[in-house]
Amino acid sequence: MSPLTGFPHRADQPGPVPEQRSAWLEKCELCGTPVASRHGHLVDTGRRGLVCACRACFLLFIESRRGDPRYRAVPERYLWDPDRPVTGLDWAGLGIPAGFAFFLRRGTGVAAFHPGPAGAAESLVTLDLWTELSAGHPLLAAAEPEVEAILFHDAGCGTDCYLVPIDVCYRLVGTVRRYWTGPDGGPRVRARVGELFQEIRDRVRPLPEA
Ligand SMILES: [Zn+2]
Ligand SMILES: [Zn+2]
Repeated sequence: MSPLTGFPHRADQPGPVPEQRSAWLEKCELCGTPVASRHGHLVDTGRRGLVCACRACFLLFIESRRGDPRYRAVPERYLWDPDRPVTGLDWAGLGIPAGFAFFLRRGTGVAAFHPGPAGAAESLVTLDLWTELSAGHPLLAAAEPEVEAILFHDAGCGTDCYLVPIDVCYRLVGTVRRYWTGPDGGPRVRARVGELFQEIRDRVRPLPEA
């Protein structure tokens, strides 16, 4: 099973809705402390899922990066590279039959996911192609394995490309699965996905120069 089709807990909740958020209480999955609706996540590299974490546990795993920790803290940065936009040609070269998809480095390979009504379909990208693309787009190489993804969005008038925390991709997949209707997704899923992309655009900062 694809790791991104089995969604843990509420990481797939769409958009911030404060009124609804206070109605339920989440707990840190490591120590049991109640957490706020906005909280950090760890990737459990053993079962390849997300774990909700309180601030203390989150910081613990940021600091223990050395060695071989099972849990890896998901960074909170959102980046884009306005100086080196991904062209439509690059996007077409990746051969993804969807308006958006995200790419995740793990192990020695790169996996592509494009969300659909049944979850995220996974395909492998040849490392050669990814290396070639990364040469012209340092943003792609800046993503940390397992915890950060490169998200492409074919907006119709060019392709946007963002470096995002992997938990946002879980939300995206969950949103698509929840609101998809009919053969093409329907207006509701497009509206919800549009909101999520707007949230991402509001948070992105330019890639710092190396
Ligand atoms: Zn905790
Ligand atoms: Zn959570």
